[in-house]
Amino acid sequence: MDIRAVSGYALSSPIDPPQDRRFAGGTRRLNKRDVVLVVVETGDGARGFSTAGASSSAMREYFEGDSQGTFADVVDGAVAGALEGETLEAIEDAAAILSRTDLPTHLRTEAISAIDVALYDLRGKELGAPIYDLLADEYGTDPTTEMPLYASAGMYMEPEGYVRQAEVLEREGFFGYKYRPGIGPAGDRETVDHLVDAVDEMEIMLDVHTWWKADDSYDAAVVRDLVEHASAAGAYWIEEPVEPADREGYADLAETGAALAGGESEPSPESLRELGETGSVDFLQGDVRHHEGYTGCRPAIEYCRGRDVEFVPHNFGTWLGLIANAHLVAAAPDVRLLEYPVFTDDPLIEAEPDPGMYPFDLAFDILEGAPAVEDGTLTAPDGPGLGIEVTLDVLETYPFVDGPWTEFRYDDDRR
Ligand SMILES: [Mg+2]
Repeated sequence: MDIRAVSGYALSSPIDPPQDRRFAGGTRRLNKRDVVLVVVETGDGARGFSTAGASSSAMREYFEGDSQGTFADVVDGAVAGALEGETLEAIEDAAAILSRTDLPTHLRTEAISAIDVALYDLRGKELGAPIYDLLADEYGTDPTTEMPLYASAGMYMEPEGYVRQAEVLEREGFFGYKYRPGIGPAGDRETVDHLVDAVDEMEIMLDVHTWWKADDSYDAAVVRDLVEHASAAGAYWIEEPVEPADREGYADLAETGAALAGGESEPSPESLRELGETGSVDFLQGDVRHHEGYTGCRPAIEYCRGRDVEFVPHNFGTWLGLIANAHLVAAAPDVRLLEYPVFTDDPLIEAEPDPGMYPFDLAFDILEGAPAVEDGTLTAPDGPGLGIEVTLDVLETYPFVDGPWTEFRYDDDRR
């Protein structure tokens, strides 16, 4: 592949008016969602696409001052400078070239991730094959193009709010309902109890995304108690109950026998695999956007193959990212489940009340048409590459808005 141009476009999907969410210890404001669309063009005019997401941990982005606007500049600058004019034999060659740049590690990793996915899109288009076929060749698998989705919604609300969402999403046929607790230990306990009463077949997952450290009411003993409580109630998994880097904390909680999940916040493919190797997580959540694309997720997936830790891609963002992950799920061995983030006014969900977390219209508008979802099951597109059309109108209709996408105000000014 002769790389002619590499471009990054920072886009913002406003949440207007901004939403304030109260959690134990503070308030979180949601202003917008940002996406960087990455486009790689080859000498013959073909284009490959991917999205770079915010670092999966909102807190990291907020506290370290990174923004999606600056990442688009990195793509247009150092990444384009390194790759334009290069002829790549293998997709991995791009990672080798980018690893020789002097970009800070986290930006280099994010760049390699986005470029890897866009190059798979291009390779598939060149060969006239969907990405899942290319990946299935690499893994020696037969692709399974239909996959169950679990709905990812629910963000700090009263227990009844979570229940209303779960009831709608169960009727829509989703495999599971994942929600964000953090309203205080008593409310979190009550929420689990209400949810398990309300649902029939659907699984319940908790995505704590480390919020159980944001308030003094969650000390280690309380967190352990909440994990045990949720597990006893039948929670399918409990995600990031402690800080991602706290391997000891994970190991301690794993001793309770609860099914734990984590991985999205791991900074590299190596640390992702290492988290799997600890034996503390039952579900390992790599992300093509954060762990160096399809290529970077492979060592973790190969580790999980045949073991009792299941790789479940972390997927949070646009439908373009959803489809990128769907190709991985279709081809990768022992990988079967995909995360479906539910935003307000989702064209695929007609049910009332609207179970969306907040508005993120760009998530849908970035694609022509909609993914094939029926009764909670997604069918990966079988066209060449990603098999989707990107709507380039979004470059005009979703201009980048400066400032952080989310802000935290702590009751006692702690971080
Ligand atoms: Mg998460």
